[in-house]
Amino acid sequence: MESPSTPAQSQATIHRIEIEVDWPPGHVDTYLVDGPEPILVDAGMAGEESATALESGLADADCSPSDVEHLVVTHPHVDHIGQVNALLDANSPTVYAPIGARERLNRDATDLGDTIRRHARQAGIRGEMLDTVVEQSVNSLERNRSLLDPDAVDVWIGDHDVVSIADYDFEAIHTPGHQADHLCYDVDFDGEQTLFSGDILLEPFRSVMIHTGLDTGVEDAVPAFLGALDRLDELGPRQVLPGHGPVHDRPGEIVQRSRDSIERMLDGAKAAVADGELTVLELAQQRAGDRDFHYVLPEVYSALAHLDNAGEISSRMENDVRYFYQK
Ligand SMILES: [Zn+2]
Repeated sequence: MESPSTPAQSQATIHRIEIEVDWPPGHVDTYLVDGPEPILVDAGMAGEESATALESGLADADCSPSDVEHLVVTHPHVDHIGQVNALLDANSPTVYAPIGARERLNRDATDLGDTIRRHARQAGIRGEMLDTVVEQSVNSLERNRSLLDPDAVDVWIGDHDVVSIADYDFEAIHTPGHQADHLCYDVDFDGEQTLFSGDILLEPFRSVMIHTGLDTGVEDAVPAFLGALDRLDELGPRQVLPGHGPVHDRPGEIVQRSRDSIERMLDGAKAAVADGELTVLELAQQRAGDRDFHYVLPEVYSALAHLDNAGEISSRMENDVRYFYQK
């Protein structure tokens, strides 16, 4: 991923730093844009090992955490904001983050817990499992805001905002679905149009819809993701630097592949409903198989709600549980 080497211009060299995580495809990537004011896009996974990996990745580029002047965040997930505090301690870079995350990170934990409980009950979750789901959501809010303290963010970025960072214009594109506040950043690096795509446009697979988790807006994940793909499709060819998986230059192809994947997922949900009435929990467990079903709950919730809204399936409520059935 060398930058173009036109002479007599300030040249950006972009270094990709891979940090291991223990889920597919096995790493999360941050990107260092070298220059007089080094920019880091995303801050890697949390934890000591990741801190070491980030430091050694920076060292490979003759840089260190204390050189980073700007830190740009795509979305507030643990593997993208893990080392924000370490970077703040090292050099206090200017921090840029999606505006939607401000409210989300400031969310009242009790209110969040109540909303999660209501949605989880509706999904058919009961008993100990219900407490676990609520607890996990509240814990993840608290972890995320300890990793990215909203008060530490200097610049909140909205859709289509163009923010000048070091010598470059970062144009934000709101791309929800994987995460509701997610931004991609489109930058012209001396003629090389480059998209920092965060957790969308991944080559190995489509990222799971987490969107708001089971918080308010959970049912919007499918249309949100499809809308994000439409927005990215309009951009046309460019270099894509994703948060996971290889760098590529085929956004159009990956957009189409992601749409197909969503289509298949919706077809699968419809087929499951045709096999017999079911709840979100039942379909999530079916889909997850041997794996932990928790992480597919929002996607399944949204898929069934989406099909229901579109009139492709029907639903009924009984004892606060929503059952989906074939029309
Ligand atoms: Zn990620």
